Amino acid sequence: MYKRVLLKLSGEQLQGQFDGGFDAERAAWIANEIKKVEGAQIVLMIGGGNYARGAQLTGGGVQRVTADNIGMLATMMNALALADVFNAHGLPARALTNIKADQVADQFTHRRALSHLEKNRVVVVAGGIGRPYMTTDTAAVSLALEMDCDVILKATKVNGVYDSDPHQNPDATRFDHLTLREAVEQPDIKVMDQASIALAEDHDQSIIVFELLQENNIARAIAGEAVGTTISA
Ligand code: UDP
Repeated sequence: MYKRVLLKLSGEQLQGQFDGGFDAERAAWIANEIKKVEGAQIVLMIGGGNYARGAQLTGGGVQRVTADNIGMLATMMNALALADVFNAHGLPARALTNIKADQVADQFTHRRALSHLEKNRVVVVAGGIGRPYMTTDTAAVSLALEMDCDVILKATKVNGVYDSDPHQNPDATRFDHLTLREAVEQPDIKVMDQASIALAEDHDQSIIVFELLQENNIARAIAGEAVGTTISA
């Protein structure tokens, strides 16, 4: 049973049935899954790929730094909408942002985040770590360390880490467990970017890679049941 977890949701998971943008129905489904969790504090790092990714937006005059700033703004749109949907479905939540945007959301501070967690509110963090050339995966590991989370739950489309792409190869086999070192040494493992796994390895931060859209997976993973692939020391 974990006491405090960092859940990483990509933007793609929030677009649900659409090709992009935000699907309130999917967000409500996620709210109901999180409501099944008992006795754990939850911090969410939100991606923005459903609106913009820096690397894809760069070019034709748009500088990388500008594109990454736009990517961070995308995560903010997700976080604001997600916190609203969570609250509307009886899951108390607050959005905090790592980029300055006083008008639209409270600035993330360690103390403010802790205070919300102590009041049993889900903390939804926007803006990654607030600097360009980063992803929200790296930001998720950094935030898990900062908030002293027991584990990172990395929600994906498949139920863990496989030795090859299970959508391409029907014989792909899933790892139940990998060490952080093994995950760093196998660049084929594309569940999270290498920088984020390297940061996790440096600090012995455990990660569980699991399939979001299986009912009860979030609650089961937090209860310590075997779900997906555990990457740990
Ligand atoms: N981004 C950034 N700094 C951060 C986090 C994110 O510059 O600390 C930008 C980057 O351009 C990234 C975009 O925000 O492509 C959206 O985040 P990400 O691609 O991680 O979203 P996801 O793929 O998880 O939806």
